[in-house]
Amino acid sequence: MKLVEKNPKDSSKPAKEKESHHTPKGAKRELIKKFPVRCNLEDYETAYNEFTWDDGRKEISYFAGGKVNAAYNAVDRHLVDGRKNKVALYTVGADGALNKLTFLEIYEAANRLGNALKAIGIKKGDRVFVFLPRVAELYIATIAIAKIGAIAGPLFSAFGPDALRDRLQDSEAKVVITNPALKDKIHGIKKDLPDLEHIIVVDTDEKDLIKNELSYSSLVAKASTELKCEPMDPEDPLYLLYTSGTTGKPKGVIHVHEDIVGHHMTSKWVLDLKDDDIYWCTADPGWVTGTVYGIFGPWSLGASCVSYEGRFDAAGWYQLIDRLKVTVWYTAPTALRMLMKAGDDVVYQHSLSSLRHVLSVGEPLNPEVVRWGMKVYGLPIHDNWWQTETGMQLIANLPCNAIKPGSMGKPLPGVYAAIVDDDGEELEAGELGRLVVRPGWPAMLRTVWRNEPKFHEYFKIPGWYFSGDNAWKDEEGYFWFVGRADDVINTSGHRVGPFEVESALVEHPAVAEAGVIGKPDKERGEIIKAFIVMANDTAPSDALMEEIKEHCKRTLSAHAYPREIEVKDSLPKTRSGKIMRRLLKAWELGLPTGDLSSLDDD
Ligand code: ATP
Ligand code: MG
Repeated sequence: MKLVEKNPKDSSKPAKEKESHHTPKGAKRELIKKFPVRCNLEDYETAYNEFTWDDGRKEISYFAGGKVNAAYNAVDRHLVDGRKNKVALYTVGADGALNKLTFLEIYEAANRLGNALKAIGIKKGDRVFVFLPRVAELYIATIAIAKIGAIAGPLFSAFGPDALRDRLQDSEAKVVITNPALKDKIHGIKKDLPDLEHIIVVDTDEKDLIKNELSYSSLVAKASTELKCEPMDPEDPLYLLYTSGTTGKPKGVIHVHEDIVGHHMTSKWVLDLKDDDIYWCTADPGWVTGTVYGIFGPWSLGASCVSYEGRFDAAGWYQLIDRLKVTVWYTAPTALRMLMKAGDDVVYQHSLSSLRHVLSVGEPLNPEVVRWGMKVYGLPIHDNWWQTETGMQLIANLPCNAIKPGSMGKPLPGVYAAIVDDDGEELEAGELGRLVVRPGWPAMLRTVWRNEPKFHEYFKIPGWYFSGDNAWKDEEGYFWFVGRADDVINTSGHRVGPFEVESALVEHPAVAEAGVIGKPDKERGEIIKAFIVMANDTAPSDALMEEIKEHCKRTLSAHAYPREIEVKDSLPKTRSGKIMRRLLKAWELGLPTGDLSSLDDD
């Protein structure tokens, strides 16, 4: 598909003039100014012009000969920089039980497990997967695996058998670390996993162990607390993580120890972590945000992290912020939309005065949510853009820059992002095109596990890493997300991104969530069809649907409103909370649904 193409009804004018998409109304006018707090990065322009990744490497501890280990940077180095007895991790169980672990305690626990893994034959490069809820052992295991040079494979604890089989089979995992409640899921597929040698079970008695199982506590009890980190080549693999599966079958992305340079610098600039912060990343480490910004990045800066085992619950989340006095909070649009749906009263019933910095990632953040955040939290929500493949944030609303609600922000220092056509030519400000990045940032994926051709697809636009997303850039260098390249709708010769229509829909008080697709239409090529979830039990009616359409027409334009609206109880989402538009489309058109292993079907 060529993005910049001529209007089929009129081929006389140059293509670019015919390109049609909507600058969100008010995008230029609406600006949330920088807040008067001192940020780790105060002067974006200077840093953007002067920073190189070699400057970033100076903040990372290397071993002799340029060797490095991400786990050493996340944990070991804090034993000598004054943070030894600082709390590294607050874990809050689903029942509310609070536990604290210092950097020293994490260090010793990870050393024990690292030694135990070595003792059962795990070597550099072996894949060790972690299939646990958000308990301390999840964090300890990830560090232990990295320390001995094995490759960590995080798995979301809600995965079903298909998702587990795909990942464990494809990666040829040797070990899975799990718990008594989850281990049956592994045994159920064990016959399909010839490479899996051991299942290590936490919180279990020796007497309850069955075939292939080992007890975590027995293994570590015998192991020493002394372990030297494996000096790794910066290009040696650190973790193997599968993408969210929003657009198709998840890809097994390989990241390396050198990524820590990017984890560190972005946690410093974007998360803006300081020594007295209490930081809560709500993402599960089964997704890239939970691994990079729930473990390696914040720990590289020596920050105190919060891990909450429980599920989403608006009052419960606010209580947690109040109880632990969370200062920096990194979450996702889907959670923020659910919080907005839960209403303002529940916000005001809690004290959220500890919060100073709020961030969002994973999906487009609707401007309405940013405005609501300003109203109820008194803080702007900082959207940022990145992917499993990019391994770190690349485009962000930095705390030192003003925010334009609906924009993902600007490329970080050291990152050159652009909007190009299919030939890699950069487009003018305001033009819709492919979102690409110049390779060279430290955390770019190194390969797709056992799928080199897939890896090369990311580089099909010469000179660029292609993200698969469409976006545009304004004259001040802010980037605006339009949609996945495959999701862009072509209606009567106009290109419309699902995000802008969804954002207009959720602006309407009766709409809590919206997913928008293009539906084939003889006359118009495609028409816009919206699936919506009603807010606050509002009863749907024909009159209300007309009113919602009118609202979209007013906000967008006459051709960009949804001609069809269907009300649903919920929208299909991935386990990481992303709306699966491809599934809405398959349902609508009666087509095969494709890979559903990432579907959140609770
Ligand atoms: P798959 O690649 O398997 O289809 P996925 O792309 O959802 O799944 P992730 O790597 O978890 O897997 O997500 C990255 C994608 O999430 C981006 O390409 C983009 O489409 C979307 N995304 C992330 N952050 C933002 C953001 N701030 N605004 C808009 N979209 C975002
Ligand atoms: Mg993707």
